[in-house]
Amino acid sequence: MVLTAQTARPHKPTFSTHHLTSLPYTLCIMVKVLAILYRGGEAATQEPRLLGTVENQLGIREWLESQGHEFIVSDDKEGPDSVFQKNLVDAEVLITTPFHPGYLTADLIKKAKNLKICITAGVGSDHIDLNAANERGITVAEVSGSNVVSVAEHVVMSILLLVRNFVPAHEMIERGDWQVSDVARNAYDVEGKVVGTIGAGRIGFRVLQRLVPFNTKELLYFDYAPLPEHAAKEVKARRVEDLKEFVSQCDVVAVNCPLHEGTRGLVNAELLKHFKKGAWLVNTARGAICDKDAVAAAVKSGQLNGYAGDVWNVQPAPKDHPWRTMKNPLGGGNGMVPHYSGTTLDAQARYAAGTKSILENYFKSSPQEPQNIIVEGGKYATKAYGQR
Ligand code: NAD
Repeated sequence: MVLTAQTARPHKPTFSTHHLTSLPYTLCIMVKVLAILYRGGEAATQEPRLLGTVENQLGIREWLESQGHEFIVSDDKEGPDSVFQKNLVDAEVLITTPFHPGYLTADLIKKAKNLKICITAGVGSDHIDLNAANERGITVAEVSGSNVVSVAEHVVMSILLLVRNFVPAHEMIERGDWQVSDVARNAYDVEGKVVGTIGAGRIGFRVLQRLVPFNTKELLYFDYAPLPEHAAKEVKARRVEDLKEFVSQCDVVAVNCPLHEGTRGLVNAELLKHFKKGAWLVNTARGAICDKDAVAAAVKSGQLNGYAGDVWNVQPAPKDHPWRTMKNPLGGGNGMVPHYSGTTLDAQARYAAGTKSILENYFKSSPQEPQNIIVEGGKYATKAYGQR
């Protein structure tokens, strides 16, 4: 039991509530909630629907403070003097987002003595050492499904922009040039191609669904969990159980599985040799699933005709990251963007509401929605983070 403030107070721009101690008190249980979000800058002050930003704080500050909870929000996440590491030592709830991940390593978990629950505002909790969370019995929950349509749409867009050689064509127009053959020489149709997904969960399946009307030659998937029969029938997807076999049959490979011990560096120099020469690779899952240098070399040599996605092995990506500027031998094949496919305004509304709902359940000690739980009580609650 801790003494804390009685009433809700207006929004304070400092993002800290230490000044609560000077206010009138009543008895209630105060929880320290720490959130690491991305800084939205001017855009976030102009656009309040950018809820996942430091400025707009998932829209939960007033609600949390009205119940007397302490809410610390920052984007400062690297190093021992960061707001993240300094506040982690006594925070009970940690909210992080994959778009600007506060990396919760095993070492930091040891220091986070009060930590009981980590909530991912979004989908994908690989920035947390899940095995270390299990050792400590910390719950990790995410807002499952909140942005899966947003990402699936981005995957389909990325497939199209690579296959159709869109980016160099647009750059040509901006430059004031007009030489159709220079871009048409490497532009194809998706129709008649073989497209496959590594991971056929919520996103992977939605990608397959959205590709059905494109009349591909075949849709394939590689996943240790087979699709339910009715789902596989709906999208007419064939499962290939061997990964090398799988990639050797695809014109386009999309990565849609979580990052875990079994997928870190999965697409490496050795696997890339088994891709069809000139295949396209799309990865909106996690940057570290694909080997940074092997992908850059494969694009440069033309083994891959292109690579597109929004996820990077470190975020924010350093200025000299090779994926920013890599090009195929014809000067195209790069569809990289910052990590934003799952943070459309529609998605932000959903993951902000989902984060609040997880918090509500936590404060009331009510059970969480089972699909949101990644680890709990020292165990994995999902089969999606590796076969064990
Ligand atoms: P999901 O849990 O519904 O599906 C994941 C699927 O991957 C499961 O079917 C699982 O069996 C499969 N899988 C796990 N390991 C595999 C392996 N080694 N090989 C093949 N398949 C494997 O998850 P989801 O909602 O579809 O999301 C998938 C991932 O996408 C997330 O974990 C996250 O990393 C990423 N994501 C990215 C963004 C973004 O903004 N770029 C947003 C949301 C999710």
